[in-house]
Amino acid sequence: MDFTGKVALVTGASQGIGLSAARMFASRGASLAIIDINSEGLIAAADAINHDFGTQAAYFLCDVSDEASVQSTVRKILLKFGKIDILVNNAGIYRDEAKFFEDTESMQWKRKIDVNILGTLYFTHAVLKGMIENGYGRIINIGSVAGVYGIRGMVDYSMTKGAIIAFTRALAKEVTEKGVLVNCVSPGNIQVGIDLPDLSFMNRSGTPNECAEVICFLASDKASYVAGQNYLVDGCRKKM
Ligand code: NAP
Repeated sequence: MDFTGKVALVTGASQGIGLSAARMFASRGASLAIIDINSEGLIAAADAINHDFGTQAAYFLCDVSDEASVQSTVRKILLKFGKIDILVNNAGIYRDEAKFFEDTESMQWKRKIDVNILGTLYFTHAVLKGMIENGYGRIINIGSVAGVYGIRGMVDYSMTKGAIIAFTRALAKEVTEKGVLVNCVSPGNIQVGIDLPDLSFMNRSGTPNECAEVICFLASDKASYVAGQNYLVDGCRKKM
């Protein structure tokens, strides 16, 4: 998979799945814009990527839930690179203490809606016209098994990820014939912390790299006849 000449934008790229995807794009020749809310992690990620792959990854501090900041970030990226070919809407929040819905507060749901849903919509909206004008684009949204099956104790999160999957399917129906292929990757348990082997028939958590491989595949021209799909990367999920 070669991304030479392509410009990839990855949100939430300081760590975890986003960082793995960013590193993979860079290792395969892409020019890279990485976005995060965590400035320390973002600078460290960009330094490591540039050191390891000899690239010029540009980093932009941005809260994806702030529409004005998203728009100005996309303007800066377009000024620097001239185009955006690939958008990975990866930034998301889920690490609340698990609580049944009746014990949660609206503030928590609203933040997840702002980051997980609106963040994806803001970035997609900000890049889409350019992609359509260029007749080329790849958008990979990051969903979750939670959005497919629903996870108890994570009701609000499950709802936001279900929305992302529906957004992917509907948007693909508008833009596929304009050359913009939109797909979703829905991870199961990916080991960014502890291993939870009981959740999959592979008896282990997945790795961020195993998600990044599917993201890169969907962003590549190898996936030229794939649009509007949701790929589960969950090691064959056992239980929720
Ligand atoms: P992660 O380790 O928490 O990394 C996410 C990154 O996004 C962090 O650097 C985080 O910064 C940043 N971020 C959070 N809110 C942001 C905002 N408003 N604007 C910009 N950046 C923001 O996440 P991950 O585990 O790699 O997960 C990545 C994606 O996969 C998420 O959408 C998640 O819902 C989804 N997912 C993950 C799993 C899993 O098992 N890991 C499973 C299913 C789906 P801070 O650390 O400062 O918040």
